[in-house]
Amino acid sequence: MKAVETTIQLKFSLQRPPINQLTNQPSTKQHQKTIICNPLPSMHLLVFILLFLESCCVQLSEGNSLAVENLATNGLPFPWSKVRLPNYIIPVHYHLLIHPNLTTLSFNGSVKIGIDVKNNTNWVVLHSKGLKIISATVLDEHEAHLSERALSVLEYPPHEQIAIFSPRILTSGQKYYLYLEFKAALNEGFFGFYKSTYKTKAGETRVLASTHFEPTSARMALPCFDEPIFKANYTVRIRRGPSHIALSNMPLEQTVEIGNGLLEDRFKVSVKMSSYLLAFVVCDFTAVSGLTDTGVNISIYAAPEKWQQTHYALEAALRLLEFYEQYFNILYPLPKLDLIAIPDFQSGAMENWGLTTYRETSLLYDPDISSASDKLWVTMVIGHELAHQWFGNLVTMQWWNDIWLNEGFARYMEFVSVAAVYPELKVEDHFLDTCFGAIGRDSLNSSRPISSVAENPTQIKEMFDTVSYDKGACILHMLRNFLTDEVFQSGIIRYLQTFQYSNARNEDLWDSLIKTCSEEEFTAGDYCYSSTQGTKNVYGFAGEHIDLREMMHSWTQQKGIPLVTVKQQGRTLHIGQERFLKIVLPQEPLWAALQDGFLWHIPLTYKTSHSDHEIKHILTTKSDELELDGDVDWVKLNTDMTGYYIVHYDEEGWAALSKLLKENHSALSFRDRASLVHNAFQLVTAGRLSLDKALDLITYLKSETHNVPLLQGIGYLQSFYKLIEKRNITDVKHDLKTYMLQYFREVIDSQTWSDDGTVSDRKLREEFLSLACELHYPPCLEKAQQLFLSWMESSGRVSLPTDVSETVYMVGAQHETGWLFLLEKLLQLGMEGSLIKKQNLPTLIYMVARNPVGHFLAWDFVKTHWKDLVAKFPLGSFGIREIIVGTVTQFSSTEELKEVKNFFGSIKEQVSQLRVIHVATENLEKNIVWLHRNLETMRTWLQQRLNQKKSDQNKYIF
Ligand SMILES: [Zn+2]
Repeated sequence: MKAVETTIQLKFSLQRPPINQLTNQPSTKQHQKTIICNPLPSMHLLVFILLFLESCCVQLSEGNSLAVENLATNGLPFPWSKVRLPNYIIPVHYHLLIHPNLTTLSFNGSVKIGIDVKNNTNWVVLHSKGLKIISATVLDEHEAHLSERALSVLEYPPHEQIAIFSPRILTSGQKYYLYLEFKAALNEGFFGFYKSTYKTKAGETRVLASTHFEPTSARMALPCFDEPIFKANYTVRIRRGPSHIALSNMPLEQTVEIGNGLLEDRFKVSVKMSSYLLAFVVCDFTAVSGLTDTGVNISIYAAPEKWQQTHYALEAALRLLEFYEQYFNILYPLPKLDLIAIPDFQSGAMENWGLTTYRETSLLYDPDISSASDKLWVTMVIGHELAHQWFGNLVTMQWWNDIWLNEGFARYMEFVSVAAVYPELKVEDHFLDTCFGAIGRDSLNSSRPISSVAENPTQIKEMFDTVSYDKGACILHMLRNFLTDEVFQSGIIRYLQTFQYSNARNEDLWDSLIKTCSEEEFTAGDYCYSSTQGTKNVYGFAGEHIDLREMMHSWTQQKGIPLVTVKQQGRTLHIGQERFLKIVLPQEPLWAALQDGFLWHIPLTYKTSHSDHEIKHILTTKSDELELDGDVDWVKLNTDMTGYYIVHYDEEGWAALSKLLKENHSALSFRDRASLVHNAFQLVTAGRLSLDKALDLITYLKSETHNVPLLQGIGYLQSFYKLIEKRNITDVKHDLKTYMLQYFREVIDSQTWSDDGTVSDRKLREEFLSLACELHYPPCLEKAQQLFLSWMESSGRVSLPTDVSETVYMVGAQHETGWLFLLEKLLQLGMEGSLIKKQNLPTLIYMVARNPVGHFLAWDFVKTHWKDLVAKFPLGSFGIREIIVGTVTQFSSTEELKEVKNFFGSIKEQVSQLRVIHVATENLEKNIVWLHRNLETMRTWLQQRLNQKKSDQNKYIF
């Protein structure tokens, strides 16, 4: 699954450092005054959202209390007490018939499940949620009924399970069939078998029905053994009317007329797969199709009027699938692969085997109106879902605690595949941002290990987070650099070969990577390494024995990120490691406890002024010493930031690197420069480096030519500005604005208001013009205003350059008439669905909260509508997490922290198991601490800088 959070990260903060939520609320009085004086868009938007919510959201049902003695709904004891199913009944083959009615918005179905019984039992326990079970039967292997009577079915909703009682014992070693008939309404949310709608240009509303099962919602569409370990074959039949089509994982085998004007589509039997990968859609879409080199038929489906936006996705999918078949050295095993744009979709996309589903914005690309980052996003999402066809679908994690084996890999393979297939998109420029994002979360105490316990559906949903995706990808990147590309690739080929159509754990991956393949296991010699070659590659890193399993456990079994400290004395480097923490300082009492037991096996790399190649060393202890091979002016650790750790130098070390950046920054790669900027400001937040040192370090940016370090540096300044603006600290706000405009004026002035250039150039333009207008730079405001007026005068018919359109809207919306016009346009656009699609609500709330005035309104809104929100966006889902983080982390005062804690305290029973609450409040604490530690330093530094500038100017005048 592709996390939707990434969309926001990519669109709004990909280029900004993770410190981005440094914002604050003025006192209530000031706050109200500001609202009265500034009728800003956020107010209208909020009213708008309110209306929308009133019209469509349902109330959360009450009284879902947990049964103490596991009593079924009819009061009888339920025969199974655990959240996870018994392991002695194994599903082998599902024969599923589904008939959705798009008029009554309901469906009925039947399923015959072939099961293997491993222990004698009278009970079959399986998953079912929200389904009405009409009848249940157990048949023997000859399909003869075991009982004349209808069998009783017990339901236990807290565990989303049902139990079927068979009067005759099911005997160990025997095969049986379970036959169930069921019905339900199409789900109104985004999970299970759910309803989606779209509007045609003529204004007609059309309905479709689609599925989204990962992680635990297959049970909402059919009774099933809904755990990833239970892989089975599926034979699907779908009934529909003649004006619709049906799609499922496999190609159609035949269509049969069954009377009453109905047709039944019968699909080929699937490969063995987990229940969360099953999928079906009934819709009236059209498609474009093409064949890969190896004969896989790829089709892109979309609503008929969006057909012309499907062509880019087809090209990308064809090329990326061919890349993966070669890279993994395993052919894609199905005859077809569909990619379909579903109008209502909560996450970014979903990798169902053979029928991948997407948000429209993750699949459709219109060369006329889509932006550069839209193109990059679509390509990366397709790269992600296609990688899952191997990582996740072919080989699946045993249980959700290891979901990173799916998501970390897919996230990483996005970069590997897109870099290889579309080098012009320069996707690798964005990889550092992925790791910076992971570090933002991982340097808080509320983080979690990559492999974490997750038992119930809420906990499982929360596992789809930046730790699984982004940290997972960064750890794999580190490992690949450590092992070399060839050993890494041959190791994952081995892993995929060994565990295909089966399940794997963390350890299995490490074992596959360290072992090299033997000839009898593989016939394809290209990717096979002899054990001596493999050993040489791995151990050659440090010339000593390395336990890969132990090394990788230090990254997946413990949370957090290490800080490597460096002190140079003559030719000796004194190296140390500790856990990097953002809030607690070493001199505070809590420090020791938070460090206790943390130790990583860190593959260090470094460069010096003396060496033109990187030197490697593995740090497995708390401290160590390295001998340099000559006198050096500077040392830079973590070459290209391939390692997942932060580096802190001693005073001389930082001074030498700062000097190097000023005098000859191209002596370091752009990744090294970006990582220095990043590390310096992270250390400021952690109270380890003073802010003026970091600010001095980035003064070199005036001559920086690469967008990645440039945007990294400016992103920090921008986030400080937003924080100070929200706190209304007028003198510092004024000085920081003056400084930024003076300092980056050349870059700003060199931007054009167009869509020209590479993805990277266009990203730079988007960021810098939006910054300039945010800082009220007159030429920027003038130009934006002018574009907005001509756009408004043409009733929105004149098309704006895509890269700057958000900036133009933002400036235009600062005036009442402009905002009203914009709102009207937004409404028209939103009419495609019903008003605005509810899937966009979390993002809208987040956008409101980012606004200096809106953050307080957004928080009030979340509190008032909490029940409605969790009814739409289940606890643990992407949506609710985005809402919580997006609003709470805008705050930065102790009063606000208290207020936030009070609110979540009042609904403790509901949210106590949610990690995201701890993450959000810890980010808020971080904001408080940051201001407390750094405001005075910033004030003084800016005054000195601006005075210096003035006296320089005076020199010229006199
Ligand atoms: Zn995914």
